[in-house]
Amino acid sequence: MADEMIRATAAKGGIRAVGITGKAFIEEARRRHHLSAVGTAALGQAMIATLMLCSTMKAPQSRVSLQILGNGPLGTVFADAGLDGTVRGFVQHPYLELLPTDRGLDVAGAIGKEGFLYIIRDEGKDMPYTSTVELVSGEVSQDVANYLFTSEQTPSVMLLGVFISDKGVEVAGGILLQLMPQEAENESLIMLLEERIKKLDSFSTLLRSGKSIAQILCDILEGLEPKVLPYTQPLKFACRCSFDRVLGALHILGIAELKDMLEKDGGAEVTCQFCNTVYRADRIDLGKIIMNMQAEEQALSDR
Ligand SMILES: [Zn+2]
Repeated sequence: MADEMIRATAAKGGIRAVGITGKAFIEEARRRHHLSAVGTAALGQAMIATLMLCSTMKAPQSRVSLQILGNGPLGTVFADAGLDGTVRGFVQHPYLELLPTDRGLDVAGAIGKEGFLYIIRDEGKDMPYTSTVELVSGEVSQDVANYLFTSEQTPSVMLLGVFISDKGVEVAGGILLQLMPQEAENESLIMLLEERIKKLDSFSTLLRSGKSIAQILCDILEGLEPKVLPYTQPLKFACRCSFDRVLGALHILGIAELKDMLEKDGGAEVTCQFCNTVYRADRIDLGKIIMNMQAEEQALSDR
């Protein structure tokens, strides 16, 4: 089954729901970054959550970045997604392995229970909207749901599951349920949703049972007249890096350092942090950058 996002409503428009399947884009992140199992689960959950956060935006070029800076050994977890269905991300320590807990991979132990969650919403025109909340548990679903409630006043329930075997990512998905503004004060409705989620078997077990994300969504929303919208959106891992962007970034190093690289290494190698693609700038590329920078310096001093 291809990675996709479905949308649904329930309770006469009072509930908005999003379901995501994400096996392929998380597997691609795992392979690109050589992620450990717990690293794959943490990044995979963060990628799904970021796509969900982006799904509420309107402008077509909208993007959301999510960064978790916890006190656990995994270090920074970063994901960035677009309303166009593209997503990318990385973790600071991709090789970290931790013993699983009785509930599965120890994502909260890897992330840490204390720290901060940073969200940037960018519509591509005005200043991006940034917001920070403290972590409440180190579990991505709880921390993002807490962000949605405290920072965006949207009562939300989020489920995330990434199941990994020795072959790689077997199943991955997520569900987001949100109360619309007209129901935002309806505490019994959010309690009902939380209750239903608690009663579910482990989410990755459900996904592994072969049930589709739409079926799981409709089971949770049973009796609340769920309506799954006919349109599904394809999702994929995609980075926005390019050779030109990477060359542009080399400017930061300054002329002296670039000259040194040219003499000693005959070129430069730059790795994109987001997708791990290695770009090689040869002697000619590097020479051109140095010449341009020297010309810029000259122009400035002639002023
Ligand atoms: Zn890249």
